[in-house]
Amino acid sequence: MPYVIGLDLGGTKTAAGVVDGEGGVVLSRTVPTPARDGAGAVLAAAAELVRALQEDAARRGLPVVALGIGSAGVIDSGRGVVVSATDAIPGWAGTRLTAELTARTGLPAVALNDVHAHAVGESWLGTGAGMPGVLFVGMGTGVGGGYVLQGKCLEGSTFTAGHVGHFASPFAWEAGVPLPCSCGGAGHVEAIASGPAIFGLYSRLRGASAGATADGAATDGPVDTRGVYRLAADGDPAAAEAIRRGAVAAGSAIGGLANILDPAVVVVGGGLAFAGPLWWTPMEAAARAELLRPLAGLPIVPAQLGETAAIRGAARRALALLPVPEGSHA
Ligand SMILES: [Zn+2]
Repeated sequence: MPYVIGLDLGGTKTAAGVVDGEGGVVLSRTVPTPARDGAGAVLAAAAELVRALQEDAARRGLPVVALGIGSAGVIDSGRGVVVSATDAIPGWAGTRLTAELTARTGLPAVALNDVHAHAVGESWLGTGAGMPGVLFVGMGTGVGGGYVLQGKCLEGSTFTAGHVGHFASPFAWEAGVPLPCSCGGAGHVEAIASGPAIFGLYSRLRGASAGATADGAATDGPVDTRGVYRLAADGDPAAAEAIRRGAVAAGSAIGGLANILDPAVVVVGGGLAFAGPLWWTPMEAAARAELLRPLAGLPIVPAQLGETAAIRGAARRALALLPVPEGSHA
């Protein structure tokens, strides 16, 4: 049986796994992404990781024949090139991902966006397995997603599809002003529903309720969204409101998207999906409140594959490069 390597190249870590034809991860390795050192260093680290896995696999007698790359940024999956990216990795836009990594590893390669890879993985092997339409939404530091129809992720005409964080949310407004968004726009879902947005809202609410200098600085408070969640669980009203508002914004967006796409299942991943019921319960209630009547029974479930989802999704794309004697993975 041939094996492929799935690579999940993100802004903070680069993970890869040797994956079999059924999606099993038989070997894996992870390294920090040297993002600050720029695109060249990130590519070099990724190539070294893949080569190390090739050696691991060779020692086990496993034939690795292709490489699938799930990468941060908007990825032209036809050409294997980074079309655009945030400045998390300086110089990442324009990187010829597949050509560079094929040259350094000898493996034929295919690339796609990392969130799209995540969606493909979950629809292949997670709760959505076997379902015709799977809407994956990742709610964490950023907000993103992917819609997988008949096993194929909708990438869009410029490969930008799935930017679930960047459409208007009625919840992303304060005092008549839209909240600034990471994309440079304002009033978007991500500006109220992402982990950092929830943390920012908590800081503002806390400043207001303390009647303090109102600079929003929570000097002796929690340092991250997880800390805000813990405070909410302990009954802190500002923390509880921040979590609730972020969750309702997320749910409202998810419900609206479901009405547009009519998926068979919605799979919610990212750190917030696993924060706990103070986030999940209002998120799901807000999503269901949006749903049109025929969608009333829509399953809305947490993601199942954890950190291996993008590795497996990228691997599935690589498997699709191979000749398919039995037609088992078209
Ligand atoms: Zn935005």
